[in-house]
Amino acid sequence: MNDCLFCKIIRGEVPSTKIYEDEYVYAFKDIEPIAPVHYLVIPKEHIESAAKITPENSAVISHIYEVIAKIAKNEGLDDGFRVVNNCGEIAGQTVFHIHFHLMAGRKLEWPAG
Ligand code: AMP
Ligand code: ZN
Repeated sequence: MNDCLFCKIIRGEVPSTKIYEDEYVYAFKDIEPIAPVHYLVIPKEHIESAAKITPENSAVISHIYEVIAKIAKNEGLDDGFRVVNNCGEIAGQTVFHIHFHLMAGRKLEWPAG
């Protein structure tokens, strides 16, 4: 057991609104959405950030992108969507369990901050 917020969400110790779940991945609604659609897609395995991806744990990342495509299809995000991974404090990472923001439903400006 660890103290990580997203591990607690996976274990059901902290409530969340589930969008998708399988053996390896959990997806849920961001608690402070910045777009009409704003989900977080996370591996069930605790990986701290993109800086900690290795040959041993990288398979779940490609699986996460398969899940994102599946969610986008299910939710009819046909106009497009954005996937964001913040790695480290200067990029704005606040929860140190790797997560991919899936955002859609409005025009998303680029470049982002
Ligand atoms: P980041 O800043 O990239 O680390 O993203 C962390 C995200 O987690 C932010 O968008 C928060 O709104 C979101 N968040 C924090 N706590 C919760 C929670 N309990 N349930 C759902 N989303 C959360
Ligand atoms: Zn964790």
